[in-house]
Amino acid sequence: DQSHSSNFDKEALLEKDRKYLWHHISPHNPNPLIAVSGEGSWITDVDGNRYFDGMSGLWCVNVGHGREEIADAAAQQMKTLAYYPLNQSHLPAIQLSEKVNEWLGGGYRMFYSNSGSDANEVAFKIARQYHHQNGEPLRYKFISRHRAYHGNSMGALGATGQAQRKTKYEPLGVGFQHIPPPYCYRCPFGKTYKDCKLECAQAYEDVINWEGPDTVAGVILEPVITGGGVIVPPQEYLGAVREICDKYGVLMIIDEVICGFGRSGKSFGHQNYGVKPDIVTMAKGITSAYSPLSATAVKDEIYEKFKGPGADTHFRHVNTFGGNPVSCAVALKNMEIIEEERLVERAAVLGVNLRQKLEVLMNHPNVGDIRSFGLIAGIEMVEDKETKLPASADKVMFIMAECKNRGLLIGKNGDTVPGFSNILTLCPPFVTTDEDLDFIVDTLVEVFDLLN
Ligand code: PMP
Repeated sequence: DQSHSSNFDKEALLEKDRKYLWHHISPHNPNPLIAVSGEGSWITDVDGNRYFDGMSGLWCVNVGHGREEIADAAAQQMKTLAYYPLNQSHLPAIQLSEKVNEWLGGGYRMFYSNSGSDANEVAFKIARQYHHQNGEPLRYKFISRHRAYHGNSMGALGATGQAQRKTKYEPLGVGFQHIPPPYCYRCPFGKTYKDCKLECAQAYEDVINWEGPDTVAGVILEPVITGGGVIVPPQEYLGAVREICDKYGVLMIIDEVICGFGRSGKSFGHQNYGVKPDIVTMAKGITSAYSPLSATAVKDEIYEKFKGPGADTHFRHVNTFGGNPVSCAVALKNMEIIEEERLVERAAVLGVNLRQKLEVLMNHPNVGDIRSFGLIAGIEMVEDKETKLPASADKVMFIMAECKNRGLLIGKNGDTVPGFSNILTLCPPFVTTDEDLDFIVDTLVEVFDLLN
């Protein structure tokens, strides 16, 4: 009985965990939190301790834990039709495609896979083949950004701009160029907004010209860099990138794996910036992680180039589990819940409130900057506000551990450069209450006070 979690023999479980399990990211963590159940924004571990899930798992459990309606939808679909491949069709895929298209504002075609990495691989392959079939076969390069994360597979990791995650696996997929991120707090160009004339966006045009415009297939970017440190661009940035893409015939691929499905306070993150991408990739929030699913939404005009005549215009990509009926049914129910409970609007309000409450931390000597986008927040820790020297790993780990001791789970950015993993991250579920927000901020204040 999972409701009596203290009945578990934790030591025996830990022993087996240490013996048999290879954890993601931190394989040698000898003392993992062993989660047993979840309800709303809270999870319960094997000892019966409750934790506020301040990262929605891995930026994904947007509608919160323990949604019986989703479990029922999955069970119902499993009983009716658990599997059928998408070289043909099935009802949940058709219904889901229509709904996602609505949320995107129309004009897209959906290709389904299992993970965010998969969805990005699909985007790269479609972009390259599109240019072939559009009479520009030399276009194979993609421009990405330092600090970006786009996935774990060879192409998606090639697009990723975090050295620590890449070095021992190289060579990765070729053709990925990286430019500096729009990181105003530490402007890579040494400029100040707005005197900068958005050099970070101009960098796209420079690289396109250096590489040769006829060799560039696309750009890939998140609306806001999330895992790389909640790096929020100036408001005009995405529009400027869109213009450059249009000028050079380069496809704009927007990675909405984290920012999509309401997380940004709008249906999709790019909608905050008034741009229409050529390709949109999505995962995590599409099912709130109740079941694995991802999608690559491709503009109808691009799809037109894949319609023949002749079999060699087809997209040669198949994915056994991608878009399976159960995951599609789960996604549909997840989106229905978001609509019925007006959770996109709720995320927007929560995001504003969280941001306002966090402002108090700016008084602390180890907090250099606080940034947010919808219901995502980043707290950049420094040793010194003047020099902006990144806070030591010890300090960052101390804050995270003390938060955990008080029942608050938070995250930090990917270790982009050694010693540069100094940005705490928050990405709570959309069902977070106002009291929960106070709990987050009160706990952070209390824990930061211990640093002095
Ligand atoms: N893109 C972004 C922006 C991500 O944050 C992630 C995962 N954190 C991915 C892609 C890859 O997704 P997945 O882990 O499902 O392959």
